Amino acid sequence: MNQYIEETKKGLVHTYNRFPVVLERGEGVYLYDTEGKRYLDFAAGIAVCGLGYGNQELNRTLKEQIDALTHTSNLYYNTTCGKAAGALKRITGMDRVFFTNSGTEAIEGALKAARKYAWKKGTGRYEFIAMEDSFHGRSIGAVSVTGSEAYRTPFEPMLPGVRFAKFNDLESVKAQITDRTCAIILEPLQGEGGIHPASQEFMEGIREICDKEGILMICDEIQCGMGRTGSMFAWQAYGTKPDIMAMAKAIGSGIPVGAFAMTEETAEYSLEPGDHGTTYGGNPLACAAVAKTVEIFEREDIVSHVRKAGAYLTEKLDALTAKSDVIEERRGIGLIQGLKVRKPVGEFINKALEKGLLIISAKDNVIRLVPPLIIEEKHIDEMMNILESIMK
Ligand SMILES: *Cc1c(COP(=O)(O)O)cnc(C)c1O
Repeated sequence: MNQYIEETKKGLVHTYNRFPVVLERGEGVYLYDTEGKRYLDFAAGIAVCGLGYGNQELNRTLKEQIDALTHTSNLYYNTTCGKAAGALKRITGMDRVFFTNSGTEAIEGALKAARKYAWKKGTGRYEFIAMEDSFHGRSIGAVSVTGSEAYRTPFEPMLPGVRFAKFNDLESVKAQITDRTCAIILEPLQGEGGIHPASQEFMEGIREICDKEGILMICDEIQCGMGRTGSMFAWQAYGTKPDIMAMAKAIGSGIPVGAFAMTEETAEYSLEPGDHGTTYGGNPLACAAVAKTVEIFEREDIVSHVRKAGAYLTEKLDALTAKSDVIEERRGIGLIQGLKVRKPVGEFINKALEKGLLIISAKDNVIRLVPPLIIEEKHIDEMMNILESIMK
């Protein structure tokens, strides 16, 4: 184990403070380290492994695709890209998809698509309104719209033309609107920012403002999307369809892939040949992963399962919150839940790890629970037992 840790520490730029665990394999909702220790996984590789580990149907598809072809570039067509795009169109209700390799790139593309839209319409608009405590990724464009100063300050100057508003505060958004505003970007449920769901009123208000002012609405569904809230995408539960949306994390079940998608009306005035591109994006392997992931989600009705499991988890967490002095509040929807705690959150994460439970933190001293979406009640009970024992 130490050999892997030393080797990694020596070789990498020191950007991550990792836990001293070397994960080797996974099965269902459990992970195993090189020492053979088993962990119940309520992290899912940061909300990525929705189908858990070792899904044989998915693995077979990936193996077959590796044997056939993994990369083509976008100079040519391939056999899985169209299928994956069709699958995402079906579950998002969007009309046009662009594949990226990560969430950050999906955001970057969404921002470019919005700028191009304003440019082609000749509106002279270029400003973005983003939310405080948001997280949209780590490229200069994505950090420019991320509402966390620690992520921005060392890399200034940021992209010009970004204004921040308070999440769930429509007046604060209205105060940032100018005749230069081209898009409003938000997560329907803020993940990194501390598990804050948008209010119905806020989502409807944003949609209304955008319609009235000719502004595009961009939803970042990278963490809260793909079934996690008990809707395929979080915005769907509010009935507020964005013009552009970004996806990643769970859409490829662990194969690195992201996408942004837009309505036909937006696409008509947006990116054209030569405007945007990527070498890997939409490669046959990534698209095989997306197409199969969507197929399994639909056939197994993962979204209904999340609603049931999410309700069970919510009930258990609420009961614990009611009797705990340490937990201030439970927040979240479905299988993306946060517990705001009164002691440093790191203590709990470490204690859980010792006891074989993987949980993560979010901003604002929050324990974040984002298990594989296939989690069952017995796993939730197992997690609750550990959580209760470390909350004492
Ligand atoms: C993880 C995340 C991103 C960035 O995705 P990467 O794949 O890490 O680049 C962007 N937005 C949200 C809401 C995320 O949770």
